[in-house]
Amino acid sequence: MSMRRLATWLAALAVSTTALIAPTAVADDAPAWTSIFAGTQFDGAGWSACPDPIHVSVDSRAVDPARRSTLVKATKRALAMWNRGHVVTFAYGGEVPVAFDSATGVSRPADGVDRDRWIYFTVVTDRQKSGFDPFIVGLAGPIRVETTTHTILEASAAFRASYVNRVPLAQSTEVIAHELGHVIGLGHSRSRRDLMFGTLLGATDLGPGDRAGGWALLQPCRVVTADASA
Ligand SMILES: [Zn+2]
Repeated sequence: MSMRRLATWLAALAVSTTALIAPTAVADDAPAWTSIFAGTQFDGAGWSACPDPIHVSVDSRAVDPARRSTLVKATKRALAMWNRGHVVTFAYGGEVPVAFDSATGVSRPADGVDRDRWIYFTVVTDRQKSGFDPFIVGLAGPIRVETTTHTILEASAAFRASYVNRVPLAQSTEVIAHELGHVIGLGHSRSRRDLMFGTLLGATDLGPGDRAGGWALLQPCRVVTADASA
């Protein structure tokens, strides 16, 4: 998928601590969750439900050294939140330096090696964050999707350093868990009970719409036979 196309989605997926979601008229029985790909060529895209975990690495170079362990702890807690919901299995992948593109909000591994089933987190400084509006604390989305199977292979998320460097652990955890919902393929929920509601409300666990949407977006695990003639 082209990065330019993706930029639109990423910009729409920013989470804010202050912005209000305008009420929209929807049927009472409509699901609260949404897909970020709705109406695009990747409608319904998601990660495959394979048992091997999806790794999440961090690039914490822009974080105050004294706060780096808090970021890692918040990341691990956010992964555990989704793992408890049995949507996908996330595992912490350690430090992987990335290059952040402020025009698209996309991070790619600095070593140029694309990793399947991988999510790159980075923390960006005020100098780098030209793509962030003043109230936005995180940006996230899939960055590589297999076109034939609509399977997400790679994703990235960026967090504002001035936020990560000062907020309590619980607040960082909530922001990170919310951005993980976007990398799963979820858009904003219409329900205030969901972590994926567009404004941070202090969620400490997944809501019913987060779980339902997360399960609905999973793609079947396709086992690739390495040698068909064997
Ligand atoms: Zn969001």
